[in-house]
Amino acid sequence: MLMTKERRPAIRTLRGWAISALQEAGAIRECEEHGWMQDRADPQARERAFDVARRDPPPGVSPEDAAAEIEDVLGSIGDACPECPQER
Ligand SMILES: [Zn+2]
Repeated sequence: MLMTKERRPAIRTLRGWAISALQEAGAIRECEEHGWMQDRADPQARERAFDVARRDPPPGVSPEDAAAEIEDVLGSIGDACPECPQER
């Protein structure tokens, strides 16, 4: 079996950690139907996620890097699921 994908487990783990920290803080949520992450645009929830990053970063990751990853994930997530029908 040919592996063509570059494996970067550390980064994948940090991204996964950031997403779960944001979910736990209530800053993002997953579309139940399609699995897309949605930004809930809740400043207090975001602040809680940054708090977790600074106080309790994942093992081997500095608080700065953890907070930067939180920021990065927030920047990459839209405020609506791209597959859900939008009513305007
Ligand atoms: Zn959806």
